[in-house]
Amino acid sequence: MNIILLCSTGSRKGIMSELLIEKKQLIQLSTGDLFRHNISNKTELGVEAQKYMNEGKYVPDSITNGMVEDFLKSNNDNLIFDGFPRTENQALALDEMLKKLDSEIGKVFLLDVDDKILFDRLTGRLICPKCKRSYHKQTRKPKVEWVCDFDETELITRADDAPEKISTRIEEYQSLTAPLIQFYEKQDKLVKIDCNNKTIDEMYKQIEKEF
Ligand code: AMP
Repeated sequence: MNIILLCSTGSRKGIMSELLIEKKQLIQLSTGDLFRHNISNKTELGVEAQKYMNEGKYVPDSITNGMVEDFLKSNNDNLIFDGFPRTENQALALDEMLKKLDSEIGKVFLLDVDDKILFDRLTGRLICPKCKRSYHKQTRKPKVEWVCDFDETELITRADDAPEKISTRIEEYQSLTAPLIQFYEKQDKLVKIDCNNKTIDEMYKQIEKEF
């Protein structure tokens, strides 16, 4: 079954994906990670995407949809769509792409978190550039300051986690992505997961129960 993690930035979709990969053997398609990979390899797509990401804005649908279509050539089942779709145009394109591959979306998990919690979480976020695990300066500290517990890589902060960029990203979500809640409700695929004041374990258990 293919699933979508629908949520605003900072909703712990990356951590939920890690757990789903480990426990349900799913494959992750993270458009944010694919863009960052293209940016570090300085590809044409990466150079173009970076202009938008640096501002906390969404990358245009034509670029994003093309990148996802490419990915689907090698995988089209047991996927976690992490950070895609984020606009109605992307959601319609995804339905079309999957239909052509005789596949579809099974469930859409809405990770629901208040904006204030998201903002606090993202301003303190630290990321391992190697394994992508995330930490928080106050609430999820690594054992050694600025060092990843798993592979000892030096942790970084993401350029788009600067406060003014976070606000833009949250606004983009409210205006462009939130309408997808109704889109998937109409398809009877939406499962709402209340993530306010929940531990990672509690969040995952709710997803697992509905899987
Ligand atoms: P994420 O790692 O999912 O928080 O994504 C980081 C950034 O990548 C976003 O703020 C956007 O600039 C860009 N991005 C990721 N996925 C998409 C998408 N589906 N559509 C447009 N832009 C995206």
